Amino acid sequence: MQLVFATNNQNKLKEVQALVPKHITLLSLADINCNEDIPETQATIEGNAKQKADYIKTQYGYDCFADDTGLEVDALDGAPGIYSARYAGPERDATANMDKLLKELSNKDNRAAQFKTVIALHLNGAFHEFTGLCRGKIINEKRGDQGFGYDPIFQPEGYESTFAQMDLSLKNQIGHRGKAIRKLIDFLKSNRM
Ligand code: IMP
Repeated sequence: MQLVFATNNQNKLKEVQALVPKHITLLSLADINCNEDIPETQATIEGNAKQKADYIKTQYGYDCFADDTGLEVDALDGAPGIYSARYAGPERDATANMDKLLKELSNKDNRAAQFKTVIALHLNGAFHEFTGLCRGKIINEKRGDQGFGYDPIFQPEGYESTFAQMDLSLKNQIGHRGKAIRKLIDFLKSNRM
């Protein structure tokens, strides 16, 4: 059985391929000759994940899943959220994004935040959604050099280290993306997919 994962990130693809049941072959966007920018114009993380999965289903006809992730900061009413990648501008510069966020929070006592990953799945004529949350706080300065994005300033609840100071295996175990992916995998297995 073939299932499209709406990504061109080979690392994400390999990681997830290793977890899905053996008879499911994941195809990337390149594998289905989709070389266009898929629209992501919705106001929510859920909406963007669904929009991407809908697009592949309607334009290319494949069963597929798409993911979307954002960092939601309580004191900023959920910002940067859907704008996480380009919070400080279209360059998608992680350092500039973190610096902007630290500046926005400089006079705020409430540092609580969460990462949210939503996976939208079209399979056998039905639509399903899986959400992974990781709550934590934005610390005052960058710590660690692992990972990517906002990892150096995000400290998950119950830990003294930031995501950027953790092994990837621990981040996957407690993190938003790992949680959402495990829900997807459990669903595929329990429905004998
Ligand atoms: P995407 O939906 O996976 O492309 O994530 C959107 C943006 O959210 C990324 O460009 C990062 O800025 C941020 N982000 C997503 N996941 C993580 C993470 O695990 N750690 C830190 N930042 C992340």
